[in-house]
Amino acid sequence: MGKALIVIDYTNDFVADQGALTCGAPGQAIEDRIVSLVEEFLREDNEVVMAVDMHTENDEYHPETKLFPPHNIIGTNGRDLYGKLHDVYQSNKSAIYWMDKTRYSAFAGTDLEIRLRSKGITELHLVGVCTDICVLHTAVDAYNKGFSIVIHEDGVQSFSEVGHQWALQHFKNAIGATIVRK
Ligand code: ZN
Repeated sequence: MGKALIVIDYTNDFVADQGALTCGAPGQAIEDRIVSLVEEFLREDNEVVMAVDMHTENDEYHPETKLFPPHNIIGTNGRDLYGKLHDVYQSNKSAIYWMDKTRYSAFAGTDLEIRLRSKGITELHLVGVCTDICVLHTAVDAYNKGFSIVIHEDGVQSFSEVGHQWALQHFKNAIGATIVRK
C-alpha cells in the first residue's frame, strides 16, 4: 500500500514570528517533527508533497481577501518554507513534489488526486498548518475521496488552540482518521 506525506502551508507567513498570518510559537514547535517525517518518507522512497498556498495581492475574486490579511503572495519570502524545512526541500528538490494551491484544501483545483491515484497511493499522512483550516479541508476532501488518513498530532498546529483541539476530535470522530504522535 502506497502512502504519501502531505505537508500543508508550512511557510514563513504561517509560521515565522513576522509572518502575515502566523501561528507563532506553537507553529514553530512542530518544525522538527515535520522535518523528521519528511526525511523518513524520503528515506523509504514514499511520496512527499509540499502543498503551498498561493495568492495574488488584493485579488477581488478570491474569498480569502475578505477574511484574512494578505498572505503567501507570489514572489514574496512569506511563501518560502519555514526554517529547516526550507533547507530540506532545497536539498531534495528532485524527490519532493512542490504543489501550489489557491484554496484551503490541497485537492481544490490541483492535480493532487490524479497524481496520488496514478502512484497507487491510498494512505495520506497530513502535517502542517492550520489544523482547523487547510489541514481540515484537505482531510475532509481526502475522506470523501476514500483515502485513509493519518494525522500527526505533533505535526499540526493552528493560531487557534480551540480550533486545533476541535479539529483533532473531528478527524478522529467524524472522518475516522488515525491520530498518531511520536
Ligand atoms: Zn490563503
